[in-house]
Amino acid sequence: MPLLKALIQDQPLLISSLIQYSAQYHGEREIVTRTIDKNIHRITYSALYKRTQRLAHALESLGAEPGDRIGTIAWNSFRHLEVYYATSGIGCICHTVNPRLFTEQLIYIINHAEDKFLFIDSSFIELVEQLSPSLKGVKGVIVMCAKEEMFETTLDNIHCYETLIAGHEDHYAWPSFDENTASSLCYTSGTTGNPKGVLYSHRSTVLHSWCVSSVDTLGICNKDSLLVIVPMFHANAWGTPYAAPMSGAKMVFPGPHLDGESLVELIENEDITVSAAVPTVWLGILQYLKKTGKKLGTLERVAIGGTAAPPIMVRTLQEEYGVQVCHAWGMTEMSPLGTTGVLKKDSLSLPKEEQYKLQEKQGRGIYGVEMKIVDDNGLELPRDGVAFGNLMVRGPWIASRYFKDEGGEVLDPDGWFPTGDVATLDSEGYMQITDRAKDVIKSGGEWIGSIELENVAMEHEGVAECAVIGVFHPKWDERPLLVVVRESGSTVTPEELLKFFVGKVAKWWTPDDVVFVPELPHTPTGKVLKTKLRKEFSGHVLPTVS
Ligand code: ADP
Repeated sequence: MPLLKALIQDQPLLISSLIQYSAQYHGEREIVTRTIDKNIHRITYSALYKRTQRLAHALESLGAEPGDRIGTIAWNSFRHLEVYYATSGIGCICHTVNPRLFTEQLIYIINHAEDKFLFIDSSFIELVEQLSPSLKGVKGVIVMCAKEEMFETTLDNIHCYETLIAGHEDHYAWPSFDENTASSLCYTSGTTGNPKGVLYSHRSTVLHSWCVSSVDTLGICNKDSLLVIVPMFHANAWGTPYAAPMSGAKMVFPGPHLDGESLVELIENEDITVSAAVPTVWLGILQYLKKTGKKLGTLERVAIGGTAAPPIMVRTLQEEYGVQVCHAWGMTEMSPLGTTGVLKKDSLSLPKEEQYKLQEKQGRGIYGVEMKIVDDNGLELPRDGVAFGNLMVRGPWIASRYFKDEGGEVLDPDGWFPTGDVATLDSEGYMQITDRAKDVIKSGGEWIGSIELENVAMEHEGVAECAVIGVFHPKWDERPLLVVVRESGSTVTPEELLKFFVGKVAKWWTPDDVVFVPELPHTPTGKVLKTKLRKEFSGHVLPTVS
């Protein structure tokens, strides 16, 4: 029997429909931006939609054509949001560039993407002036500011954003096209090798937005006021700028001001209910709260991801500030959401301490992301919460290859993407990362997961930040070294810290040594740069070496 074709409208899932919807049904909801000069700018969805349509016309008048890549080097702001929607809406690709990358990486990425135009914040004029001689295909630079805010610059083909869009009509008939058309491009930060581009589609973005909004993940809904802390140049701010318009949630952009004080002020003044960020940002917020005795106002729930959420952070946010934490995991290649830490119904009846144990895990499987763990021969390992192996994923918002085929075939023959993370999966579907494969400590033929050790150390009041790395040991190959940034004023000693591990981890997992450093090196996306630490401490002689 042939399959029977359904009688349902074949409507492509397009990004333009998201902003169109919010303007029509939630036109009065606000989008708030803290600008570079620290002023507060307010606009409604309906006004922003008009400006987005103007920008669509302006892009065409500049010569942007479907398929062109349009780069952005910008903070989170309403103009950046307009660029997101206008570029993708006309069939171009919004390529968000991370300004924290090294100059050579920026040049590589912009040339590799063949960006035709660059939308930049005025903070980055000098940077772009410096890059400009090496940028091959860029035909024009648009500074995202008003006419009176334009700076003197040596750049050619420079435009002022507001002047550019001013003369254009505020109505644009968005084209309809195949939902599998490319919509945006993000490069992974490439701690090893060249950065690689992940090319999202309209379909993957819309499906991912539904997932981010669903109640068992971030649950972004109309009554919410969302603080978009994750930079829009880092995995599209975890998809939140696409998800919020789906329900007309209020959006608040902090601009470049990501320090604890500025963020807490926005949380208080803008009635923020939901947010998401990497642990280092929450650390800054918690330190500021501790210092000032302030609280987190109306904030109800937050997602923490990018690196493991330290259990002490989860506990503090929940118990001292009444904020529910959703520990989440994902990667640029996954749009980025992969798991959610919203506990299952049965888990909620467990004793509190067991619930906290579950929250240490990176979250549970969500609809749309298949997961399995395999050994080095590709054989699937049991979902028993004990066996750990290479985590593989499959789903409609996960990359199938990298832009321009960098790295060649990335999926296995059954279509699974190797995440590079080592994890356990339990029978309830909770996933726990023990390490990135390249950070695992190999001791005497066994593996030691650095994340669990870091989580324990973070519980100590003398530890502000830490990392565990493997260093050479003649007998065991590698043994763990704990690298610590002390809490200010703390005089904690290595002996005290090592004692702190007793009874908390298997004895042979306990680090062999502790070193104190003034600060840890970070990647442009806020992760501890363990490659650098390993290099720095490669000659470290452990006291356990006789
Ligand atoms: P980049 O490699 O460009 O910094 P990503 O943000 O895509 O970019 O990094 C994805 C990786 O971050 C994951 O593969 C994983 O190793 C790590 N990661 C993300 N979320 C978590 C988490 N909650 N706990 C531990 N590691 C995480």
